[in-house]
Amino acid sequence: MAALFKARRALGMAVGHGVRCLNQLAELPELHQMMRQTCRDYAQKELAPIAAQLDKEHKFPAKQIQELGGMGVMAVEVPESLGGAGMDYLAYCLAVEELSRGCASTGVIVSVNNSLYLGPILKFGTEEQKKQWITPFTTGKKVGCFALSDLICNGNKWVRKQMQELNVMFIENRNGISAFLVPMPHPGLSLGKKEDKLGIQASSTANIILEDCRIPLSNMLGERGMGFKIAMQTLDSGRLGIAAQALGIAQAALDCVADYAHKRTAFGALIGKLQAIQFKLADMAFAIESARLLTWRAAMLRDAKKPFTKEAAMAKLGASEAATFVSHQAIQVLGGMGYVTDMPAERHYRDARITEIYEGTSEIQRLVIANNILKEYQQ
Ligand SMILES: Cc1cc2nc3c(=O)[nH]c(=O)nc-3n(C[C@H](O)[C@H](O)[C@H](O)COP(=O)(O)OP(=O)(O)OC[C@H]3O[C@@H](n4cnc5c(N)ncnc54)[C@H](O)[C@@H]3O)c2cc1C
Repeated sequence: MAALFKARRALGMAVGHGVRCLNQLAELPELHQMMRQTCRDYAQKELAPIAAQLDKEHKFPAKQIQELGGMGVMAVEVPESLGGAGMDYLAYCLAVEELSRGCASTGVIVSVNNSLYLGPILKFGTEEQKKQWITPFTTGKKVGCFALSDLICNGNKWVRKQMQELNVMFIENRNGISAFLVPMPHPGLSLGKKEDKLGIQASSTANIILEDCRIPLSNMLGERGMGFKIAMQTLDSGRLGIAAQALGIAQAALDCVADYAHKRTAFGALIGKLQAIQFKLADMAFAIESARLLTWRAAMLRDAKKPFTKEAAMAKLGASEAATFVSHQAIQVLGGMGYVTDMPAERHYRDARITEIYEGTSEIQRLVIANNILKEYQQ
């Protein structure tokens, strides 16, 4: 928290008091507002102006990630005693949304470090593991990643390769599925080529290649055979980070379009006056706001330690489909300008697409939702 106050002062913002209504349907507590506003300001000032360049050069935002580490944003839920911000999951979702609004790659780097890497260690790690594997990853100098694999000690798996110095957790299936913490570099573990992909270019992706990789038992996370449970619980939480990333991308696309509708004149009228354009704006805003409320609800359930698997899947499905819909519509509203790189809409369109794929495709989210509904009606 102290880091967040410091960041607000550094950004020249008042450390204000008093609860403001943030949208028509929901109010956020003051600390959450502060997290949201701090990340919004940081994204606007430090990320949005360089996002196109990072995308073009496929450049990891190392300086920005360290700054976010200094603000407590790389470890939102981690207690202050271990180096984190000591806040909750709603605060984390607000942070990821706002950062993704400025740069979707930065958003996913923050999301993976928080929810896929630190999350399971915080929940299942021993005190010793927490000290060793959490604290150095709260500052943004080291960034963690996560690989879910069905392969044993030879094989490969895509991960978001975050930085030169990274640590990785993967799951193996000998004697049941178990989770391991693996430092890098490590004998028998190497990275494949950097994948050439559609979007989130500043967050590079590579295969992790395992060749006779030996990992000491002391690096096992949780008990032997607990890997599947750890993976599923990690993904439930991780999905909220991706929902938040998708919301940020969708909001950025809407920001761009709403602004343009006030400026662009076609056949003698502002396009914002055309009902066809107004309907698109309404549908876009509606999709975003519905998905945002789903995301906040799932995060609040998690924070209240209530079941949230179905709600997290709904949030991820709703937000990722909203992001692809909104970014598609944004290009349509912008016309030719939407298709060229002078405007950010084409990047939002490319960035949005992955949110329907990683951490469980939309088809898998639908399966999770349906299975939960069927279970509810069985009781
Ligand atoms: C940029 C990028 C970054 C990634 N980062 C990571 C990472 O950091 N860590 C990590 O572990 N993984 C990562 N992944 C992997 C990612 O999570 C998977 O690609 C994703 O979960 C989909 O799995 P798949 O590619 O094996 O698709 P498949 O499982 O082969 O699916 C192919 C198609 O079949 C559908 N399908 C599959 N099973 C079912 C089913 N039972 N019912 C209905 N439809 C089904 C899918 O929805 C999809 O449409 C990353 C991938 C990408 C592209």
